[in-house]
Amino acid sequence: MSSSLPATFRALRMLRDDTGIRAEFQTLTPADLPPGDTVVRVTHSSLNYKDGLAVAGRPGVLKTYPITPGIDLAGEVVSDETGTYAPGQGVLLTGWGIGERQDGGYAEYARVRAEWLVPLPPGTDAEWAMSVGTAGFTAMLAVLSLEEHGVTPGGGEVLVTGAAGGVGSTAVALLAAAGFTVTASTGRREEEGYLRSLGAAQVIGREELPALKRPLEKERWGGVVDSVGGETLAGAIASTRTHGAVAACGLAGGSGLQTTVFPFILRGVSLLGIDSVTCPAPKRRAAWERLARDLPASRLADVTQVRPLADVPALAGQILAGQVRGRTVIAVSPA
Ligand code: NDP
Repeated sequence: MSSSLPATFRALRMLRDDTGIRAEFQTLTPADLPPGDTVVRVTHSSLNYKDGLAVAGRPGVLKTYPITPGIDLAGEVVSDETGTYAPGQGVLLTGWGIGERQDGGYAEYARVRAEWLVPLPPGTDAEWAMSVGTAGFTAMLAVLSLEEHGVTPGGGEVLVTGAAGGVGSTAVALLAAAGFTVTASTGRREEEGYLRSLGAAQVIGREELPALKRPLEKERWGGVVDSVGGETLAGAIASTRTHGAVAACGLAGGSGLQTTVFPFILRGVSLLGIDSVTCPAPKRRAAWERLARDLPASRLADVTQVRPLADVPALAGQILAGQVRGRTVIAVSPA
């Protein structure tokens, strides 16, 4: 286990030149790292939908080139100029623009800001943290947000859309752990057994929500965790019960939202925005502590696959095609 930066280390880089945007494995030196006060030896990262977009060279996610993608990382502190963390402390980092605006988790070393880091909760490790990752953290923020808005297990079924994906799978598991009756919406009916094993009481087809076109449909959901957006989100809002709440997390099915004000003014439905990237530090720590309690590694085992860094370019295409089930941990360097 190294406690100092080596002369060279491996990274997946995104490059842009006259021929376009491409991914390339490169050997970097410490001088290639961005400014920051804390160096982390990255043992694990993860694969999120956003990482898929970045590594596939789709516009919008990466704001600068060349860059190391990977919006999540976990490992151990090598050095911290602020004195907040001792060398060897296990830490995790999600969001704050890593893997988008500055180098992220797909490299054996990262230089970041200490204030962005979260210490690994007691009893957890870097692989667990990355099996949760931004997707699971986002699901946790969505569940906390629903709870803050008064959604309780007694208030009726809670709907999770894009349920077989990363955010969706962890939302199903977290809601079930908190005692909610969960209905999982998926386009992959073959994943019904998987979703039930996570705690879903019912599984419905992806097509059922976009079909809800009227401003107010029959009241069904006490709360919703939506990772799909578009017509799916519109249908979910229209069928949310009086004083229920909808947490909008994602856009896997579309970024538009055509709705009316009726669910909001006639049923008091709340639409809650979830942004994991800029979530303030105290809320982050509270969410990670709850994740450690409600989603121990044993519960995540069936949701998670571990793949080497070398597989990331191929995995990027798969997650964009909706073919990745649950969460993918990327093993970056030996733990
Ligand atoms: P995944 O690809 O793992 O999951 C997305 C799921 O959405 C798929 O598994 C699929 O679920 C469903 N889906 C995909 N395409 C469509 C479609 N065309 N129509 C309807 N459903 C579709 O991604 P993540 O879980 O990592 O992310 C989900 C979304 O949340 C993304 O849009 C992502 O950008 C966003 N996100 C937002 C964050 C935030 O801070 N707000 C943080 C993290 C993610 P199924 O097979 O079950 O139908």
